[in-house]
Amino acid sequence: MANDPFGTAINCIDGRAQRPVADWVATNGQVKYVDMVTEPGADGVLASGAPAERIAEIRQAVEVSVGAHNSTIVAIAGHDGCAANPVSEEEHRENIRQAAKVVAGWGLPVRVVGLWVDSWRQAQVVCDSANEPL
Ligand SMILES: [Zn+2]
Repeated sequence: MANDPFGTAINCIDGRAQRPVADWVATNGQVKYVDMVTEPGADGVLASGAPAERIAEIRQAVEVSVGAHNSTIVAIAGHDGCAANPVSEEEHRENIRQAAKVVAGWGLPVRVVGLWVDSWRQAQVVCDSANEPL
């Protein structure tokens, strides 16, 4: 159906992180489908602001998703055991907060949520524009 609700997730390429994030967005964003924009260590890339080309590619993919599917929510996730962004949980959570700010700064008409996928593959909310300014 053309009007089925969509959400979008910016996530690592890691297979362990996909389902927890997609399930969280589908359930809590009340959407049927979740477009996945993947990048190794996506939280670290967005938080660090470099390389700029990769951030531009992520942004472009998110804009296609939001533009074509009218996504109402964009999640940015980091996860435990990330090979591409091998930092502590505390640093991941900082990266996720910063990354969510970057995504919110793109000015899309969406709810922006930062998620942490823990070692039990549970998605935890780090920040949520529905509850607080990012
Ligand atoms: Zn990863």
